Amino acid sequence: MTGSQATASLVAARSEAVTLDAEDPLAEFRSAFHRPRRPDGAEVVYLVGNSLGLPTMSTARHVGAELDRWATLGVEGHFSGDAPWESYHELLTAQMAAIVGGLPSEVVVMNSLTVNLHLLMVSFYRPTPTRHKILIEEHAFPSDHFAVESQIRQRGLDPTSSLVTVGPRPGQELLDVDDVLAAIAEHGEELALVLLPGVQYYTGQVLPIADLVAAGHAVGAVVGFDLAHAAGNIELDLHGWAADFAAWCSYKYLNSGPGGVGGCFVHQRHIADQTLPKFLGWWGTNKATRFEMSTTFDPIDTVESWQLSNAPILSMAACRASLDVFERAGGMPTLRRKSERQIAFLDQLLDEVIGERVEVITPRSLAERGCQYAIKVTDKGRDGRQVYESLKAAGVMCDWREPRVIRVAPVPLYTSFVEIHRFVEILDGVV
Ligand SMILES: *Cc1c(COP(=O)(O)O)cnc(C)c1O
Repeated sequence: MTGSQATASLVAARSEAVTLDAEDPLAEFRSAFHRPRRPDGAEVVYLVGNSLGLPTMSTARHVGAELDRWATLGVEGHFSGDAPWESYHELLTAQMAAIVGGLPSEVVVMNSLTVNLHLLMVSFYRPTPTRHKILIEEHAFPSDHFAVESQIRQRGLDPTSSLVTVGPRPGQELLDVDDVLAAIAEHGEELALVLLPGVQYYTGQVLPIADLVAAGHAVGAVVGFDLAHAAGNIELDLHGWAADFAAWCSYKYLNSGPGGVGGCFVHQRHIADQTLPKFLGWWGTNKATRFEMSTTFDPIDTVESWQLSNAPILSMAACRASLDVFERAGGMPTLRRKSERQIAFLDQLLDEVIGERVEVITPRSLAERGCQYAIKVTDKGRDGRQVYESLKAAGVMCDWREPRVIRVAPVPLYTSFVEIHRFVEILDGVV
């Protein structure tokens, strides 16, 4: 394509973007969020909700309300008012369960992601002399890799024999799902646990959770998921897909603020299982008798029995503000429908305007991707990192991930079609 054709496409697409925004039933939610501004006051093109979502307009009010209750009630805030801190986390359960497709008894908001992965592995990694391996992806997020390695060592085992990784084929960026299924079958009876992402953090590839669960269960392994990049991005049905457990963070697509509180899912069939090893704390014991200070643990009959500590209320309040917005917007099915339109629009613009100057390594098919794009710069002589710096200087907030991708994520709650267009316009000027 010639440069002038690309320019014509860009011009034509601008009015298309304006129309798409005008017809978008979720457009109003954009104004439910704060967004960063440049020093000159101009709004940035914020495409990094995959890393840190934006605060809602009511986040400060929700957090402030708890600060006020603390100031006016002191310790009484634990037990008084309509949202006593003692049970505050319960206010988030139904909405969070809807995000991941769990039953309310299967989902709890607590701790943070890596902490929850550890707690869940304490329960669900139960190696025996013959069945001791954990299968993860070769390019797992480092925190997940560290957590798994240390769990293996903690049981007196050695990662060189108990850690199995599956990676993309040589020269490929994406996992071939058949390779993952084949690895599960191959390690079969030696496999204790399969721990995989719902959406791969680097490539944006969505893995077929139900198929992986079925394959793991077929060989007798437990199957858990890290949903850091899936929760609030794609539609999930953890209960229906029969996943054993999952953990996620809430500061990415779920907009709960830096270090925000994490989420945790344990399938109903495991909840009452008293044979599961578990690290215990007082927040996991029967609420009715907790303050009698008995040292006999009486587990709550939901996933809440995995809780250790009383909840970080300020972080919970921020999470609540965001989950309210998800619910008002119609939940994940509605958001995903918009996301698919945004993906189609960005695909079209990248094809027509940018062409071969970049390569999107994220899978093309909608079933295998969420809203995050992993873009590799193929421009001769331009290093991807320089392109990322130029985008940033031009007002696009996205992120750079070693070794070679720029990640951009149009988030249906607050990214407009015009903003997507603006991104491509800036990219066109940069590559
Ligand atoms: C973001 C992310 C983390 C971060 O872990 P924290 O415990 O929340 O700091 C871990 N794993 C994956 C896959 C992530 O995407």
